[in-house]
Amino acid sequence: MNYTALYRKFRPSIFEEMVGQEHITKTLRNQIISGRIGHAYLFNGGRGTGKTSAAKILARAINCLTPKDGEPCNECEICREAINGSLTDIVEMDAASNNSVEDIRQIREEVNFLPTKAKYRVYIIDEVHMLSTGAFNALLKTLEEPPEHVKFILATTEPQKLPATILSRCQRFDFKQISDEDIIKRLKIVCDEIKVEITKEALKVVAVLAEGGMRDALSILERCLQDGETKIDEDKVKDLVGIPKLEYINKIVTSILKNNVNDALQTIDDVMSEGKDIQNFLWEIIKYVKDILIYKSSKKLNLYSENEIANIEKLANEVTKEKLLQIVYTLSNLENDMKYSSQRLILFQVGIIKLCSGQTEEIGSTLENSNRKN
Ligand SMILES: [Zn+2]
Repeated sequence: MNYTALYRKFRPSIFEEMVGQEHITKTLRNQIISGRIGHAYLFNGGRGTGKTSAAKILARAINCLTPKDGEPCNECEICREAINGSLTDIVEMDAASNNSVEDIRQIREEVNFLPTKAKYRVYIIDEVHMLSTGAFNALLKTLEEPPEHVKFILATTEPQKLPATILSRCQRFDFKQISDEDIIKRLKIVCDEIKVEITKEALKVVAVLAEGGMRDALSILERCLQDGETKIDEDKVKDLVGIPKLEYINKIVTSILKNNVNDALQTIDDVMSEGKDIQNFLWEIIKYVKDILIYKSSKKLNLYSENEIANIEKLANEVTKEKLLQIVYTLSNLENDMKYSSQRLILFQVGIIKLCSGQTEEIGSTLENSNRKN
């Protein structure tokens, strides 16, 4: 497979293909159909939620020679040149690296000229919150009296850093975090297309790790493929991001619940010898115990295979909710202590030994501890 970042290769080319932002794409398409296009847009949202993709599609759609239902045709001369980057009337700028007054002044001078080919000259300014104060002031002057043939699409992850004067001149659209389900749906399509087999569990892990960003989801997928294999399972994804296998997590939690110190220490050795990060390991244990607790309370768990849910059910039946709460609480304190320690492995081992000996901290005990320290 040629190396093209999957994110670029599978960037949506029409609004219809965008994932999880129907509330935005519908409005934009209606504006284009009715010809009521704003002169400045602000696209706000987390990493990889589709802001830049939407900006590119919008810039094409308003300039397309043969738009259909508010979508660009992606086939006319203008669309083709926009896609291959040769259309000078669509200007993309990254404010993280071009944030000076000079950069914006150049735009101010340019806007007085008519576009060379397209109907509108469109400026897409990414990470717009990175502009300097002087640059904001310069931009504001242009936003106040924009010529008819100029449109601005500003994108940001941090709208609170934008001056109110800028905000008030833009139509604002808030991009949502993409749901796990939507990420999984899209990943499946991508995997089918590139002929990669991926398990249901692996898809879930990637979606959770991506935290609502399609770009991160695709970049994790891409990293999984770098060894040339075309099969991806849960362990492969976890291995890649340094999360110990679920098998180890289940083993150590079982040891804790059964007070089996030797097995617990053996599992720690196994995980460490695979070079996994100990903080990740602890975090996975906490999550697992929390999930046993959730299972005990609601009988519902989304992110596990049927096999694993059977394992969790077995553990859930052998332990009280109270005990689980105490373990989560003790491990959370341990996590906190480890953050500030240079002896993390020792602290971790001692913490696990204590738990295996049935010693948990009473909930609320940190407060006393910290009082004592003071
Ligand atoms: Zn077109």
